[in-house]
Amino acid sequence: MSDKQEAPPRIALVTGAAQGIGRGIALQLADDGFDVAVNDIQPKAEQLDELRELIILKNRRAYVFAADVSIEMEVIEMIAGVVDSLGGLDVIVANAGIIKVGSFVDASVDDWDRLHAINARGTFLCFQHAAKQMIKQGRGGRIIGSCSSAGKQGVGLLTLYSASKFSIRGLTQAAAKELGEHEITVNCYAPATIETPMIDAFADAMGVSRTDYYAKIGKDTPVGRHGTPHDVASVVSFLVSDRASFITGQCVSVNGGTYFD
Ligand code: NAD
Repeated sequence: MSDKQEAPPRIALVTGAAQGIGRGIALQLADDGFDVAVNDIQPKAEQLDELRELIILKNRRAYVFAADVSIEMEVIEMIAGVVDSLGGLDVIVANAGIIKVGSFVDASVDDWDRLHAINARGTFLCFQHAAKQMIKQGRGGRIIGSCSSAGKQGVGLLTLYSASKFSIRGLTQAAAKELGEHEITVNCYAPATIETPMIDAFADAMGVSRTDYYAKIGKDTPVGRHGTPHDVASVVSFLVSDRASFITGQCVSVNGGTYFD
């Protein structure tokens, strides 16, 4: 029998995980040895259940919690549910987000409020309630947000979306300053075009065929291709590892060289 004690399981929660980047991150974290809780809105319950089965097949524990991250009580209940069922919370990836295409000149206050409710307020609520739990546990933690290339440089026709993503970068930097003393790091990822249902719908909204859209992105990207959820999940995998304990407040571009910070 070996004297070596197995490390206790670490527990991660990924929001907006039913598809796209969040799904890719959840599967990567399971591969990295995390027990993984996955969230999305109620209409995506079936996709979440399929994801749970895939995580279990990787010999990790899984937990599903349908909730709307823009509603504070649902975020509080989600985190309490993760802690009750899996035993704590070491990592949160506040990935859930929405996009809206169109000139800000034509946008309504409702458009602004909805984008900010999910992208900005939802991220704030996930960061805040995860931080409370991590501080209480006293074993550090990792908080990750979902920014965008549009959160580093404003993008026309994605003006409201850009504004909501700039907010996430500011939140990340300031929260990192506050939480460092608790050994909690706070970072976010800033992808350019990653092939997901969100971008499929974006191409549709622009009236371009998806094949043509991704082909053009590949042509305009120095590495010659658009991104995949795995590209983003690889960055998250590093940021939540012990190797990244000195990295905090950063917004990591995942863009194939599209632009430089
Ligand atoms: P996606 O639309 O394919 O998936 C997002 C998921 O979030 C969906 O399953 C959706 O149901 C869920 N969601 C939406 N509102 C929610 C809410 N209120 N509560 C809980 N879940 C909710 O999008 P994606 O492309 O996988 O993007 C994931 C994140 O990455 C988003 O924050 C997005 O802004 C960001 N991002 C994506 C790209 C890209 O090119 N795909 C680029 C930059 C940033």
